[in-house]
Amino acid sequence: MSFANKQDVIVVGAGVAGLAAARRLHDAGRAPLVLEARDRIGGRILSDRSRSLVELGAEFIHGERVATWQVVRSAGLTTDPWRGGRLFARQGRIIPNDDPLVARINQLYEAASYYHGPEHSMAEVLASLAPADDPARHYAARWLANIEGAELTRLNAVTLSWEREHGSSDYENFHVVEGYDRVPHALAQRLHVRLDSPVSAIAWGEDGATLTLHAGEQLRANHVIVTVPVSLLQAGRISFSPELPAAKSDAISRIAMGHVTKLVLWFERAFWPPFQVCSTDGAVASWWPTGDEQAPALMGYTGGLDALALAARGEAGAIEQGLAEVSQLFGTAARQLFVAGRLMDWASDPWSLGAYTYSSMGMGNARAELAVPLAGTLFFAGEATHTGGDLATVHGAIETGWRAADEVLGW
Ligand SMILES: Cc1cc2nc3c(=O)[nH]c(=O)nc-3n(C[C@H](O)[C@H](O)[C@H](O)COP(=O)(O)OP(=O)(O)OC[C@H]3O[C@@H](n4cnc5c(N)ncnc54)[C@H](O)[C@@H]3O)c2cc1C
Repeated sequence: MSFANKQDVIVVGAGVAGLAAARRLHDAGRAPLVLEARDRIGGRILSDRSRSLVELGAEFIHGERVATWQVVRSAGLTTDPWRGGRLFARQGRIIPNDDPLVARINQLYEAASYYHGPEHSMAEVLASLAPADDPARHYAARWLANIEGAELTRLNAVTLSWEREHGSSDYENFHVVEGYDRVPHALAQRLHVRLDSPVSAIAWGEDGATLTLHAGEQLRANHVIVTVPVSLLQAGRISFSPELPAAKSDAISRIAMGHVTKLVLWFERAFWPPFQVCSTDGAVASWWPTGDEQAPALMGYTGGLDALALAARGEAGAIEQGLAEVSQLFGTAARQLFVAGRLMDWASDPWSLGAYTYSSMGMGNARAELAVPLAGTLFFAGEATHTGGDLATVHGAIETGWRAADEVLGW
């Protein structure tokens, strides 16, 4: 077979990592081709404008120092700080902020997040900090499982604390007012992106690579940047020939993919008092207001094993459960005012098979190993390859794209 149109660089995946890589290559005078499996760009950024703007994937820019701001500023996007403080609810009632339980939850959460000591799972660390019947332990555990999307028996407490200390996120979070998907769209300006083009096989060697698309089409390139979620590599959704070296496939198997569900409930009007976020002991682990005045909504965010349990109820079941829980929390008007709901379960999304990665027990240097280029042909980017503590974020993914582009450019 001849390849009249041999590409210089093919980027697999049009999430922010792939688009940031392609953008940097394009700005350096190269002409990358981006192949995307879905019918849209953005990957795990998914803004829904069906009723009012809600974010079904990434929602916040974490802090003022992160790489995302470069894109936000150059695209002229606006941001809004997310403020107000965290509430906790027990059996459907908000716990007053001066209840000693609230201080205890915050203190436990901080102590566990910044644990220093021998390698232990987060479940073990929490058990060492508080007895099993301490309700604060339950809330701190859910809070951590939520943010990390993690199973706490697998979450590595030592690595997590290292990531929190070395990552560039800080406590202030920001919404992108126009929608988070404006970030990938800004990156994609003037790039050649082919949608509906899932790659199923990559044959690679020192003289380049041949990519086979699901439909059988083959494309050849000098360099390939693979940015698909690590869960897809774990599931063998792209076959490599020759097989990836043992160190690489071992690294792939050692990175844990976390789970998150986002449950959106839209209402005719807002019937809840102003609040920023509320952590609960219900099936939906936390709620925050979203949408706009015309179509106000509550966002239910659930991570880790609880996310899988909520998803197992199906969309109708999760909406029913969510309505029952917000009725208890904010009043029975919820059912009369309910307009529509949507459940986004990232674990069952075929092109992500999970939400974002977390550092598991025994993971060692798997992220760095995953990022290592092969034969000067295959390069790897995506949030899972971030080695500086900014994994599982938009800004971290962008940085890995820039890193992979620099590797291709030889910088
Ligand atoms: C529910 C949720 C909430 C989050 N909240 C935040 C947040 O508030 N702040 C934050 O910073 N981060 C957040 N994140 C994490 C953030 O979204 C990700 O870290 C980041 O978007 C990952 O970008 P990526 O380019 O590495 O991967 P992806 O966005 O997954 O991009 C990979 C692309 O590859 C495509 N692809 C897959 N297989 C193939 C194939 N075979 N061929 C071609 N293309 C393929 C996929 O369709 C996808 O578009 C959240 C994520 C989720 C799911």
